[in-house]
Amino acid sequence: MIAAISVNNLGKSYNQTELLKDFNLDIEAGKITVIFGPNGSGKSTLLNILSGIVNKDAGSYHIKDFNHFQFSYIFQNYRESLLPWRKNFDNVALPLEIQNKSRQEIKQRVEELQKLFDFKFNWEHYPYELSGGQQQILAFIRALVTEPKILFVDEPFSALDYENNLRLREHLQKYYLAFKPTILLVTHNIEEAVHLADKIIVLSKRPTQVLEIIDNPLPYPRTLQSLKDEQFHQVKDKVLSAFQKATNL
Ligand code: ADP
Repeated sequence: MIAAISVNNLGKSYNQTELLKDFNLDIEAGKITVIFGPNGSGKSTLLNILSGIVNKDAGSYHIKDFNHFQFSYIFQNYRESLLPWRKNFDNVALPLEIQNKSRQEIKQRVEELQKLFDFKFNWEHYPYELSGGQQQILAFIRALVTEPKILFVDEPFSALDYENNLRLREHLQKYYLAFKPTILLVTHNIEEAVHLADKIIVLSKRPTQVLEIIDNPLPYPRTLQSLKDEQFHQVKDKVLSAFQKATNL
């Protein structure tokens, strides 16, 4: 296995409460790894530490060939991550503007993504004119506009109704299969986890460690039909059993 991200004995406490303790994990390059665990087990904190937003207390981590311009993070609070004074197009354009790309290049790239994803926005409008679900999609497109090699996604589908949730899962897979980035995805939805993941990392309760790593052999692309597959249910059962252990439910 080629590890894109290695985490070694990571430790983090908040207000004297140990959140992560001797936390070890290798994330495989070019795969979708889903982090699944009890509420408050530190899933977002882990992503925040690995992306340099939050300081660790102990241990180390290494991200292979890390390049800021090829790393994207779709935050859980997507609403706050969009810039309300920028039009929809200018929100999506921002990461490329930072890279000094020309307006022409940016337009071309956005059009390519729009084709790949088949989304229809009024680019001249502002984020507040979009529904919550559309804002989440906008944040999604902005994260992909730079063609990230490493993508962190924290609860990306939480504001979407089931239909749009399934559509966005399909789009994420399309992006994944076209560009093969390393994706680290946090979700509390077991169906999403099994639908998308190559590997599901089930976390323990605090102080949090990896409780179980579950491989998902379902072939990509995974469709609606995959959700009815015998193999899908087998993997889901394994995740559920591990989650039961984690939560004593
Ligand atoms: P998860 O994503 O698994 O639900 P989080 O990483 O968001 O968990 O948070 C884990 C716990 O860490 C929370 O229950 C909270 O008590 C604590 N926590 C997270 N961020 C902070 C912070 N900035 N300051 C103090 N405590 C925090």
